This record gives sequence, structure tokens and C-alpha cells, in this order.
Amino acid sequence: MDIAENIRKFKEELGDNITLVAISKTKPAGDIMQAYNEGQRIFGENKIQEMTEKWEELPKDIEWHMVGHVQRNKVKYMAPFVSLIHAVDSLKLLKEVNKEAGKNDRTINCLLQIKIAEEDTKFGIDEEKAREILKSEALARYDNVKITGLMGMATFTEDMEQVKKEFLKLKSLFDDLKQEHPNFRTLSMGMSGDYKVAVECGSNMVRIGSSIFGERNYN
Ligand SMILES: *Cc1c(COP(=O)(O)O)cnc(C)c1O
Repeated sequence: MDIAENIRKFKEELGDNITLVAISKTKPAGDIMQAYNEGQRIFGENKIQEMTEKWEELPKDIEWHMVGHVQRNKVKYMAPFVSLIHAVDSLKLLKEVNKEAGKNDRTINCLLQIKIAEEDTKFGIDEEKAREILKSEALARYDNVKITGLMGMATFTEDMEQVKKEFLKLKSLFDDLKQEHPNFRTLSMGMSGDYKVAVECGSNMVRIGSSIFGERNYN
């Protein structure tokens, strides 16, 4: 894998209006630095401990995104530095993020993860639950947390019509909620296998791992 070349290719293809999150989970610091030296500053991880270790080791102008499922008892480790949490799915989690962000004198931006896939293996909440969270009185009191948009993962399938249907559903919910929530600006959808469809459907943030860094080895 020529990581630098891949970063150049994605930047050119995505342009200025679509944010590239380079998903570096399981990849070593050296790989991240190859992307960094090509100007990439936003990296995503799905485990808090791994992300924290990389944050400690790597340049401090990197923006770290947590894209995986978040356990409440681990929020404190990333609260000092995380710049966006993509997969928020409950008020309880928002309460914890708010508390830990406050201790660090920060406001942490979060996305609500919406379940759009037909498979039932994916995390995320439905539209009704998202609306309930957004209008809750509790959230209004959480001064150190801000919901800035939505994230979704489509069904893992070759059937791009299915994927498109799911992304369009998310885009339409995003547009709808944006009317009432001025902080809404980020629609995180699209990965290596489906980012082209996601962009076609209105995504403005894509999360690309294997097409930049190569296949992941979990051994
Ligand atoms: C791993 C991961 C990605 C990147 O997946 P690729 O198919 O390697 O691009 C994107 N989003 C989330 C939430 C992930 O966990």
C-alpha cells in the first residue's frame, strides 16, 4: 500500500467540501505518519485505549475521531482530546460525555448513530429515539456536549441499490433535523466499499480505512 498516494487520491476525489477521516484502527504509528506527512490531520479509531495511546505518541495537531461503540466507563480517557464522537446512541452516554468534557473545560461534539441497515448486527438508534434525545430537557442542560449531526452505516452488501436507499433515508432525516437544530452540519456516511454512493447521496464526511492503509490484520 502506498499510503501517501492513497491520501492524495482521496483528497483530490473528495475536494474541500467532504471531510476525509482516515480510519487507522489496528495500524501502527508509522502508517499514520505517512498519511500525516501528506497533510492528513483527521484520524479515526474504534477503541478508546488504542486511540489514547496513539494520541499520546503522535503530533498534537491530529484531530482524533472515535467511530466505534463507546462504553461509558471509558469516556474519561478520551475526554481530554477527542474531537468528534461518531456513534452516540443514548442520553446516558451524552450525560457521561458532558460530565467528563466539563472536567476538561471542553465542549465535545457528537453525532447520533442512526440504524439504517437492514442487518440487525449494527449499532444505532431509530429516528424516533433520535428526535426524543434531541428534544430532551436533559440535553438542553448539558453545556459541554453538542450534537452536530448524524452517522450511519449501510448494510454490508454488493447491492448498491440497497445501500443507496439506506443512505438516502439518512440524508433525508439529516436535512429534516437540520431545520430545527442549527448545530447540525455533519453527515458521516461512507466507508471504503460504499463511499462513492454515500457521497452521491449527500454525505459530507467519509470514514476510509482499508482503501488508505490496506487490509487490517486482527491477529
Ligand atoms: C473500520 C471502520 C470504518 C472503515 O472501514 P473500511 O471498510 O476499512 O474503510 C468506517 N467506519 C467505522 C465505524 C469503522 O469501524
